[in-house]
Amino acid sequence: MSPTGIRTRARQGFPRLTGRVFRARMLKVQSAFREHGIEALLVTRPSSLRYLSGFTGSNGLLVLRSRSVVLVTDGRYQVQAREESMRAVRVVIVRGSLIEGAVRTGFLRKLSTIGFDDSAVTLRMYRDMKRVLSSASLKPVAGFIEDFAEVKEALELAALKMAARISDSVIAQLLPLVRPGVQECDLASEITYRQRRLGAERDSFEPIVASGPRTAMPHARAGSRTLREGDAVLFDLGCVVSGYGSDITRTVFLGKPDPRLRKVYGIVRSAQDAALQAVHAGVSARAVDAAAREVIARAGYARNFPHSLGHGIGLEVHERPRLAPSSKDTLRAGHAITIEPGIYLPGAGGVRIEDDVYVHDRGCDLLTHSPRELIQL
Ligand code: ZN
Ligand code: ZN
Repeated sequence: MSPTGIRTRARQGFPRLTGRVFRARMLKVQSAFREHGIEALLVTRPSSLRYLSGFTGSNGLLVLRSRSVVLVTDGRYQVQAREESMRAVRVVIVRGSLIEGAVRTGFLRKLSTIGFDDSAVTLRMYRDMKRVLSSASLKPVAGFIEDFAEVKEALELAALKMAARISDSVIAQLLPLVRPGVQECDLASEITYRQRRLGAERDSFEPIVASGPRTAMPHARAGSRTLREGDAVLFDLGCVVSGYGSDITRTVFLGKPDPRLRKVYGIVRSAQDAALQAVHAGVSARAVDAAAREVIARAGYARNFPHSLGHGIGLEVHERPRLAPSSKDTLRAGHAITIEPGIYLPGAGGVRIEDDVYVHDRGCDLLTHSPRELIQL
């Protein structure tokens, strides 16, 4: 699809999640209440709110009971909450504390066990909950929604593909701009601007642009350094379409690369290939991490690969599964994950290559398609 085609479709809000999809999700979540020993669930994490109701505001509390769903939010979201939420969701606008508002309206009456995601609740919210729900017992159920959200449905996959397409297209547009004299922060602004121009809602995260020796910092912030002949230039960028994010890294060279970095590039690429070969439903995330880590260790760079191999992507830029030596996750069909090995040599520079893939029974499909060969500009 041409950049114009991508822009038109992304700006039309493609892919639009349907009421049927939301009803199915809600049903799945509600039917797991018994197994978790809860009668209702309080949802506060913005990505979970979006997953279950469509609401994208920053302040909301979704009260899920076995037969009803209520979204409690504040006056700023009066119009937006009704516009974005699925028809089955009742929207209630309150002033002040959302949980107090929910109790005042009576939606939490006669409940003895209420679940909540303790990884998405502040201490203040928890104290409020304890105070106003004193007759009920509060049960932490962290990861409850994520369990369902990990496996991507067809519409979610379509959104992930669109986000990946936009980021691929921006990488292609960026290469001619990588020239001596350009500052890292100029390239970072171009990334944000161009992703939005192509129809993305926003960046998945603040783009990373590092050049020269700064590429040895895995998470460098784009700074005022000016690009020079012979530099490695690393971009790590992503954008969001219909809530779903891409995350891709490329390392390119401005002129002739330092021979050490040229060699490292080949190793990182082989490590990524080994991991991609190892991905399929049913394999442990740890084994996939090990497949890449072994290639890097055999080449003598074990200490120069200090981060995990990858992570799930979806409504959050870092979600389950985690691909790391200590991970206990198993890859499932429908997971969307990143594979991002890197080698960083302090003082000299670093190389990372990151792609997004969709896991299925026999292997995986790449979602990002930017060239992976060493590019010398
Ligand atoms: Zn990344
Ligand atoms: Zn990543």
